[in-house]
Amino acid sequence: MNNYYICPKCRSQLMAGNKIVISAKAKDQSEGLISLSTEIGNYNVDFPPTLKYKKGDLLSLFCPVCHQNLASPKHINLAMVLMTNEADEEYEIFFSQIVGEHSTMKMMGDYVDLFGEHAEKYQDLFNTRQMF
Ligand SMILES: [Zn+2]
Repeated sequence: MNNYYICPKCRSQLMAGNKIVISAKAKDQSEGLISLSTEIGNYNVDFPPTLKYKKGDLLSLFCPVCHQNLASPKHINLAMVLMTNEADEEYEIFFSQIVGEHSTMKMMGDYVDLFGEHAEKYQDLFNTRQMF
């Protein structure tokens, strides 16, 4: 295990095995636990059959431990969790809560890295001067 993911509110680990597990609610209030890859830029998500969603829907994401909303103040479409790597460095990981939208921003201080083909959409919200 290299990277692990933490709730920014209660600092519980958001992991089950080698997957990130997050509670999701759809527009019709249906809910379920979704699991995501720990590899940044891998957008394979397992959705439970209880969650009624379609591509393009904005989901609400919650910590499965403290149930706080993981929405980021940067943008209504983005959730934020913390990631710690093997060097014990902590990053803020922002990712789109829209089904099928592939945008991830990895940030620590002035350092920002973008992943996913839709990341440019949110690029202006982040300080990208270290990137190029
Ligand atoms: Zn929490």
